[in-house]
Amino acid sequence: MVVLKTAQEIALMRQAGRVVATVLAELKARVAPGVSLMALDQLAEKIILQHGALPSFKNYQPKGAPYPFPASICASVNEEVVHGIPGPRKLKEGEIVKLDVGACYKGYHADSAITVGVGNISPRAQRLIDAAQECLTAAIAAARKGNRFGDIGAAIQRVAESKGYSVVHQYTSHGVGRELHEGFGLPNTGQAERGMLLRPGLTIALEPMINEGRAETKVKKDGWTVVTIDGKLSAQFEHTVAITDGEAEILTRLD
Ligand code: MG
Ligand code: MG
Repeated sequence: MVVLKTAQEIALMRQAGRVVATVLAELKARVAPGVSLMALDQLAEKIILQHGALPSFKNYQPKGAPYPFPASICASVNEEVVHGIPGPRKLKEGEIVKLDVGACYKGYHADSAITVGVGNISPRAQRLIDAAQECLTAAIAAARKGNRFGDIGAAIQRVAESKGYSVVHQYTSHGVGRELHEGFGLPNTGQAERGMLLRPGLTIALEPMINEGRAETKVKKDGWTVVTIDGKLSAQFEHTVAITDGEAEILTRLD
């Protein structure tokens, strides 16, 4: 099922997106050795509520999840891919952390994620982060009217694999809007010119996850945290975008 948004709905998603972008900018500035994931979560929730929005992830329970997600952000460190629960654990120099934030404003969700280095990180970790950012940029460039879902997946895969990384295929990009996960999953791998046609009014959370080692993942005993199967690093960036007549509009940014 595909839900096309009106200009008015996209305007509300833009506002939700601005809240998410504000939170991520604050969290990024706060990341440092010794800072706990819980402190980042509390700060995020405070900012979201201050803007008259609600944290999309808190108490979210999709099918198959053992219990509702207990926090406002996902914080996933090093080999954790996505859906990490922010607890008392403190960040350490050299680690990388994925911060994923969702906010719902007047019934419309926006969803965005970044990967941040803690203090000084290895060139190897930095290269992975840069590649993940480049994958998202390529995905957004491919998210154009007339292209198909497969063009986006193929663009991500091309960038990641050309640098020797693998693309996580057990989790996808997704429709977003009235619901956090709305209507469809969009694989982050694929074949060009295949799959569903992109149309103006489609709103998508594009979120390539790439791994240093194998693409496969597993879920930890907490029932939420997804980790790489080989324990190697993973990086991710995510933006919520709207398909238009021209270039996709990024809804989760400040300017
Ligand atoms: Mg997200
Ligand atoms: Mg998402």
